[in-house]
Amino acid sequence: MKENRKIALITGITGQDGSYLTELLLGKGYAVHGVVRRTSNLLRSRIEHLRRDENIYAKSLVLHYGDLSDGTTLRRIFAAVQPAEVYHLAGQSHVGLSFEIPESTCEEIGMATLRLLEIARDQPSPVRFYHASSSEIFGNATESPQTEVTPLQPASPYGCAKAFATQLARVYRDSYGLFVCNGILYNHESPRRGENFVTRKITRAVARIARGLEDELALGSLESRRDWGRAQDYVVAMWLMLQHDRPDDYIVASGVTHSVGDFVQAAFAVVNLPWEKHVRHNPDFDRPTDPMHLVGSAEKIKAALGWKPTGSFPELVREMMEAELAAIDSKQNI
Ligand code: NAP
Repeated sequence: MKENRKIALITGITGQDGSYLTELLLGKGYAVHGVVRRTSNLLRSRIEHLRRDENIYAKSLVLHYGDLSDGTTLRRIFAAVQPAEVYHLAGQSHVGLSFEIPESTCEEIGMATLRLLEIARDQPSPVRFYHASSSEIFGNATESPQTEVTPLQPASPYGCAKAFATQLARVYRDSYGLFVCNGILYNHESPRRGENFVTRKITRAVARIARGLEDELALGSLESRRDWGRAQDYVVAMWLMLQHDRPDDYIVASGVTHSVGDFVQAAFAVVNLPWEKHVRHNPDFDRPTDPMHLVGSAEKIKAALGWKPTGSFPELVREMMEAELAAIDSKQNI
């Protein structure tokens, strides 16, 4: 794979964002390298269609075994790949779970980002580095909507770890002149969202209820509000940041919040069922602390990089519901 093509290295390539970003970059003619960790199951569902495509796999897409905790292997991958652009997306990505596994969350998000920044700093040719920051760095935000200069006030181990990594990325940019961008992304969803995230949990259960496979959906607070966008739009924002002439931090958000209850109602509306009959509150799913006022202003990225989100909230819910129903129907027709 020696070439004139731009080379990108993605950590977290098997995740929701990694898979969409891979498709985006392949479409733009990049050679894409991804870091995957060793698992007992070789099926990597979100990128399996690319791995099975013989016009793509080993030609434009290469996977390397590596773990965020394994600095020597990551360094070896950098040396072999010599990426022009690095998209660092890997890590424990579930805010609620970070209360249960705080130590590994902070290790994977915080120390691993430091490890990768150190490796990027040592590269013989300049590397452009995208860091997957998060709205959770604002936690109990002091202002609304949040902008790139809103003070950090994380309210979860996940948020603390992302805040640490975000600040480190800034330090490496300011101190060493590294081209590092923090994408401060608000929640973004898709049919590829992990099954233990609330949006996916809802669409999965509602589709199963609609097909008679389940009867009940147990949720935490329906009042929790989120600024939800579409993952496919948010990976475009990542790419745009690394194409700009100087590195910077950008908020990527829809600028509008909806409640979990709104999401539930929109999902049941797709299948024409009354949500009140099927939804039950389970306080075990309530977060120890739940940032209620996270909503982002994406004005900077819109003005500086021309980024534009596509699709509305009901369209996002519909897209997720239709994928869920299609998955059930295709299994039932086998
Ligand atoms: P995701 O679907 O959970 O994917 C996480 C990726 O990280 C997976 O590829 C996972 O590999 C990999 N990973 C986790 N721990 C690893 C380790 N120790 N070594 C190597 N790889 C590891 O997350 P996502 O939704 O795509 O999000 C991408 C990034 O953006 C994350 O850092 C997340 O925290 C951040 N973010 C996401 C959102 C959002 O709403 N989605 C918002 C703000 C920020 P496996 O497939 O092997 O598990």
